[in-house]
Amino acid sequence: MDLRELYQELIVDHSKQPRNFGPMPESNYCADGFNPLCGDKIHLYLKVEDNVIIGAGFEGSGCAISTASASMMTEILKGRTIAQAKTLFELFHSMVTGSTESNGGIDDFGKLAVFAGVKEYPARVKCATLAWHTLRNALLKRDESAKTE
Ligand code: ZN
Repeated sequence: MDLRELYQELIVDHSKQPRNFGPMPESNYCADGFNPLCGDKIHLYLKVEDNVIIGAGFEGSGCAISTASASMMTEILKGRTIAQAKTLFELFHSMVTGSTESNGGIDDFGKLAVFAGVKEYPARVKCATLAWHTLRNALLKRDESAKTE
């Protein structure tokens, strides 16, 4: 299927040349993620100002799907509010687990649709969602520490 080939090309491209890969000293949110089923590891960095994600990056090592997912996630997060990022997490999660086909009205969610195919491979769902779970943890941790201040 042509569409499937296109999707695979995007994943291969992002896994071979991950965007926003490397340390981000100016970040103010971060979290680690680990998927023991596959061995994928990620350290996620976010730079947030006034509730807007102005920068995102990651380091780590993993399979093509986890790397491509993290790469594409960091691209789509830039310029999003924290609330929008949490909505994207929910949308992505429901897409790869097969509970929705909708993009929730989010404009450029389109490219992330390449991961919709992983719902046919339950073992790969954790690879695709690792970066997004790490994102959610980064945002939740910050919320918790904010409460104690
Ligand atoms: Zn993996």
